[in-house]
Amino acid sequence: MLEDTMKSFHHINAKTVDEAVNLLERYGGRAKLIAGGTDLLGFLKHRILEDYPEVIINVKTISEAGDMKEDSEGLKIGALTKLADIAGSGLVREKYRLLAEAAESVATPQIRNMATVGGNLCQGVRCWYYRYPHEVGERFLCRLKGGKTCYALTGENQYHSIFGALNGCVAVNPSDIGVALLALDARITITGLSGTRVVSVDDFFRSLHHDREAQSLVTEINVPCPNDEAKQAFFKFSSRKSLDFATVSLASVIPMKNGVCENARIALGAVAPKPFRAVDAEQLIKGRVVNKAAAEAAAEASVKQALPLSKNSYKVKIVKALLKRAILSGVK
Ligand SMILES: Cc1cc2nc3c(=O)[nH]c(=O)nc-3n(C[C@H](O)[C@H](O)[C@H](O)COP(=O)(O)OP(=O)(O)OC[C@H]3O[C@@H](n4cnc5c(N)ncnc54)[C@H](O)[C@@H]3O)c2cc1C
Repeated sequence: MLEDTMKSFHHINAKTVDEAVNLLERYGGRAKLIAGGTDLLGFLKHRILEDYPEVIINVKTISEAGDMKEDSEGLKIGALTKLADIAGSGLVREKYRLLAEAAESVATPQIRNMATVGGNLCQGVRCWYYRYPHEVGERFLCRLKGGKTCYALTGENQYHSIFGALNGCVAVNPSDIGVALLALDARITITGLSGTRVVSVDDFFRSLHHDREAQSLVTEINVPCPNDEAKQAFFKFSSRKSLDFATVSLASVIPMKNGVCENARIALGAVAPKPFRAVDAEQLIKGRVVNKAAAEAAAEASVKQALPLSKNSYKVKIVKALLKRAILSGVK
């Protein structure tokens, strides 16, 4: 019979980023970081992964990573900032509105009060094969766990990728914050054993997916300020209005001048193994008067490369609808 209780582990409060990194070095793959715990504790309770950590390194005790402030380069968000603080910040609501809306769309007030932005970016995928609780039956040794098979490819794939696989896995990344940060062209600072690096959102999610056990710490997120004329939008389509992950989400920043689109960054969520740039749609509206025809052409272009699986072609229609809505928002 399978046990349904959590195993015991050592809990260490790290006081500084350096201390957390040193602890990661000391314990290697036997340690796991914890911030708000809203994702990690579920993983441990249900024994999703075979390797159970012996040591949990609490990063909430690192005071240097909990601030949010603006300077001439934009917004600096410490990795321990709570989603509730992002959603409720007057500054974020005024100048980085889509980020506040993305944070507000996550889960429930209770979860947003615990969940940190760093933890949101690093959360595990929600694929039901990957997350199959060990107490229910044997784990699925899927591609993301190092196995040979992605069970969703030929199985229940309603909520999976329509833009192909990464590393043989078609689970989508569930982070709403990641989608918002991709549209905002943010940079993510990571500190690990090999030092500190600043990476784009795209690079961050690619390496997160390939190397889930990477022993490094997200410390800060830098978000350049969109110009005043930019239209910002965040839309999330899900089966329920609250407490639901996105079926498809979209975040966009579209700077406009006299009705003409000067530039565009459009990011889609829950459609690919990492937040996905709708580059074809962006190219189509750049330099054009934004109207219904342009929005429809961009929506069609955005799904040109879609490869829906057996049960998720409905997502293609949602992508097109959200894209048109984002491009036409505020257009008379
Ligand atoms: C019911 C429910 C509904 C949800 N709905 C949504 C939703 O709609 N949209 C959405 O985006 N998310 C959703 N989530 C996920 C939720 O947002 C995440 O659980 C949360 O953001 C994780 O943050 P945390 O601080 O609790 O992370 P933790 O649970 O503490 O950690 C999560 C993972 O990140 C790692 N980690 C944590 N901090 C760092 C760091 N600074 N650097 C490196 N690694 C780190 C941990 O080791 C762990 O692997 C939902 C979760 C639940 C339980």
